[in-house]
Amino acid sequence: METNQAFTLICKTKSLPQPSAFALDLTAQCYGQQDSPETCSRILTGNPQFTADLLRYINSPLVGSTAGGDPVALVLTTLGPESVANMAIIFSLLSQYRYGKCSHFDYQRFWQKSLARGAAARALAIQHRNDAQLFLTYGILSAIGDLALATAFPEEYGNLLLKNLHPEKAEHKEMQLFGLTTTELTCGLLDSWHFPKPLIRALQVPADPADGKPLCQTAAKIRKILTLAKHIAKICLFELPLTDTFFTVEQQAEELALPVEQFAPFFDQVVASWQTASEFFEVSTLHCPNYHQIKTMDDATLAVEPGKQEPLTILAVDDDPITLLCLEKMLSAEQRTLLLAKDGKEALELALEHRPQVLLTDWRMPLLSGIDLCKILRKTGVTQHMYIIMLTANESDDQLVQAFDAGADDYIIKPFTAKVLQARISSGERLIRSQQTISNDREVIRRYAAKLASTNRKLQNMAMTDFLTGLPNRRSALQRLKNLVAEVQRYGEPLSCLMIDIDHFKQINDTYGHDSGDSVLRQITRLLEEKARSYDMVSRWGGEEFLVISARSGTADTCQLAERLRRTVENHDIRISDNLKIRLTVSIGVASWCPDFHNAGELIKKADEALYQAKAGGRNRVELVTTPFPAPPPVS
Ligand code: GH3
Ligand code: MG
Ligand code: MG
Repeated sequence: METNQAFTLICKTKSLPQPSAFALDLTAQCYGQQDSPETCSRILTGNPQFTADLLRYINSPLVGSTAGGDPVALVLTTLGPESVANMAIIFSLLSQYRYGKCSHFDYQRFWQKSLARGAAARALAIQHRNDAQLFLTYGILSAIGDLALATAFPEEYGNLLLKNLHPEKAEHKEMQLFGLTTTELTCGLLDSWHFPKPLIRALQVPADPADGKPLCQTAAKIRKILTLAKHIAKICLFELPLTDTFFTVEQQAEELALPVEQFAPFFDQVVASWQTASEFFEVSTLHCPNYHQIKTMDDATLAVEPGKQEPLTILAVDDDPITLLCLEKMLSAEQRTLLLAKDGKEALELALEHRPQVLLTDWRMPLLSGIDLCKILRKTGVTQHMYIIMLTANESDDQLVQAFDAGADDYIIKPFTAKVLQARISSGERLIRSQQTISNDREVIRRYAAKLASTNRKLQNMAMTDFLTGLPNRRSALQRLKNLVAEVQRYGEPLSCLMIDIDHFKQINDTYGHDSGDSVLRQITRLLEEKARSYDMVSRWGGEEFLVISARSGTADTCQLAERLRRTVENHDIRISDNLKIRLTVSIGVASWCPDFHNAGELIKKADEALYQAKAGGRNRVELVTTPFPAPPPVS
């Protein structure tokens, strides 16, 4: 079945996350329409509550507007019609889908991660002078397909999540079970909500480079930003294993003109704005250490603060005012919070809002009985671990069994004394505290695993770094070049490299000794690093040879760079000892990717050939090889 068909079928037969009609109307009228500012202004004027929410938003540190004046005009000029529509969608989804039926889908974590992605995409957009507000939304919604599967197939998707499959395997399974993947669902939903086409294209699974059309520039940029945002969010949420994530993140950041030394402060800034966004959207925040700490966590920082117990919150519900009054008297104590509700419906609202650890509920109540309340709470993520005590009058044994089936943990027969009530609550509290200990222990394990991941990463780093110069080594350079070649084949951007070889280097060793030779290699390294651009990768290819990889750089730019490097070395004193300075030269071969090439090796071979010509031509010069590879013989 085609994706589109599968999506249409799911839309028809299943319930999927849907923003309110108001939000959809707003997107339909505001996205890309010419008269959108007027239309949007009219819609906002008709909805003062939404306008007030937006005003609160633009005054929050996320936007930081301090201007005053007419609220509608202010909101509209600060955000623009498209972001106003986006905010309506986010407000609406967040108010409807904080909880749900899929018991193994962590709704809270889903929103925490979505906001982390949003905050990262927003910060990257700012770096690249793109619209921060739009990217915040793109980041938040770029995995909405996960929520969609949990909503449409709570049981089947829940069972799949339990298996904890590797992402690729999970995708395959999603295809088998539901006819499409979460990514395809994301694209289908965003498309149906009128989001712009380049965003949808950017999110689509990369087509096979052999037959796929290259992405347009806008889509390619969106994809890069969202992919990096996704990985940053993984680190924010401590999603293991982190080893690969650190590596990927730093590499992708570099490609987005964020060199490694600038990445740590950037990450910390994303975390700060993630926490602000979480507070604003009332999603619980997660503590996240700073980037350096995460990468180098030691045992002391790994330890979870022991025994920090939250005070007990109890919710009591009874439709009989006298019983409720008794409960209030018996349960009031300094170290606990007591919430009271006069019927099941009110209790449900209080339970969802305050998440008490203990619920005392009457059995028979109008609107929502104790049994039904119990059932609903057990199915809802945030309340499913609550300790529930039923207050019973003269129920039969069968009825009591029914209460346990509905999810009650204990029962108390009315009338009851304060002593018995306290004893039952204490027994519940013991269970709650032991659950807390277990979850603390889990956190410790998670952090140890993260430390292990970080140690692995250090080892991996060592395997990729040249010991003498500290530059990326040949293996690292080849890996990077292979990745770039894959990108070039997909998006058609230019790619070049320089092979640099020090002239007559052997004489240095022979004249001044091997140690001086080493020192010269380090000095030349610093010169090359200094003069290369931030997005060039300078690596030690071997011996006295260096490979510089220039992403997104064509022949003319690269030749200029090569000439600049050659001249820098030529004009720079190299120190042999305190009173001896010498001059050295380098020969450089330049090659640029051409569509006839098949792999990274061919590009390097061309650069080598050019270097050979530079040596043959007298050294201290730059040569470029332009001759393409011979065409393959025609197929007869
Ligand atoms: P050409 O201009 O043709 O490149 O001449 P060359 O002398 O630079 O080239 P050749 O390949 O003949 O010699 C390279 C020398 O580099 C030989 C080797 O001992 C030295 N070398 C390789 N790696 C290191 C190193 O890590 N430290 C030191 N000190 N020398 C090294
Ligand atoms: Mg040499
Ligand atoms: Mg050599």
